[in-house]
Formats: sequence, C-alpha cells, structure tokens
Amino acid sequence: MTKHPLVLYHHSPLMGSTVRSSHEYAYHTVETPEEWNAVTLSRKSLGESLGFPSIVTLHQTHSATIHRVTEETLPFFLQNPLIEGDGLWTTLDSILLGVFTADCLPIFYWGKEVIGVVHAGRKGVYQEIHRKMILQLAGAGYEPSDIRVLIGPHIRACCYEVGEEIIQEVSSEYALFRNNRWYLDLEAKVKEDLAKDGVKRIETIPFCTFCGDSRLWYSYRRGERRCRHLHFVGKRQQISL
Ligand SMILES: [Zn+2]
Repeated sequence: MTKHPLVLYHHSPLMGSTVRSSHEYAYHTVETPEEWNAVTLSRKSLGESLGFPSIVTLHQTHSATIHRVTEETLPFFLQNPLIEGDGLWTTLDSILLGVFTADCLPIFYWGKEVIGVVHAGRKGVYQEIHRKMILQLAGAGYEPSDIRVLIGPHIRACCYEVGEEIIQEVSSEYALFRNNRWYLDLEAKVKEDLAKDGVKRIETIPFCTFCGDSRLWYSYRRGERRCRHLHFVGKRQQISL
C-alpha cells in the first residue's frame, strides 16, 4: 500500500450514446424529491463503482453558498439532496463531492488533507464563490499557497457571448469585444482573483463546452436542458499501486 492523497475524476458521458449503464441517471439534475428517488440509486452505483460509498451534491442556485461536510453533517447531506448551495468542502476520506455543469465552471480545490469543489457560472463568479472557498479553507487553517486548483471544461471566451447590459453590470474588465459582440472570460477572472489571494498552482482543462466536441460536452447554450456533467472530487488515504 502506498500513501496517495487524492483521487480526482471528471466524468463526461457521451451524448447520444446508446450505451446504458446502471448509473445512467447519475448525471440528471434533481429539482424535486421525486426526481431524487429516481437518481439516488444511480449515483450510489456510480460512486460504488469507483470505490466511494457516498456522493454529496447540492441543489445548485448560482449562489455563493458553500457548505462544509463533516462526519456529523454527512448523513444530513445524504438525506437532503435539495440543500441549496454551490460549493462543498471536506476533510473526510471516501466520499465524493460533486457539482453539475453544462457551460458553467467546475472548480476543484485540494490540499494535503482537504478537498473542495465549486459550481460557478457568471453569477457565481461575480459573487466570487471561488474566492469564498479559499477564504473558508484559510479560516480553517489551510493556507492558500498550499491549495491547488483545477478549472474544468466550461463555455470559454471564444463562445460566451453576453449582452451590453451584462457588461454594464459587471464591467468590461474581463470582456472581449469582437465583431460588435461582447464575450466574457470568466476563467481569467477566477485565475486572477485566486492568484491575488495567494493560490500559486492553478491549472485548467482547456476545452470549451460550446464549440468543443458535442459528443463529449453538455452545453446548456447549445440546447441541453436535462443532463449535466457530474464533476466530482474525492480523496483516499491509501490506494494500492
Ligand atoms: Zn468555444
């Protein structure tokens, strides 16, 4: 057995695939208790297939609300999938923390003992949920310079067109003006903010969900309404190598 601090997964089911698995509904969003019943077994099956007995997710609302999952609160999160929020962190081993996206930014955090994940669209980014995660971790004793960050696939500045009124609302600091249209670069804001906060290692997965391969990426703007990428992070104290 070898010490290994982290297992990180990013799961992207192929759109339009005819392949069916026991966890095919794991990627569906949950908005009602009835839907939860339909997907809970599917997610459990997905987690177990990866060696994790629990996946914690939230009812995402484009907020800046972040929850810590502890041994005491884990059962509460598992029994209440409609708890609202857009970020999760924990020091627990053997659970997965997940967020759903289809164009928004999934942002992963990890340090020696801690893991976290955030769902951030434009609203979340301008409420600075990505910084609030770092602040919460710092408040719990985890230095920003010891935290690593990974930004997953999302709609990028090549395609994230917004109206003039949005630019007036958020400023043009991270905006690009091309062919009489405005585009926002949310990733640039996240990276700069986190660097200012002392995060030294920030990586990105450089795919655009909108103009990338439509068989790989769900894009809300391209028309996907039901399914999302379920991105998750988990850690294991020990794995066999
Ligand atoms: Zn693009």
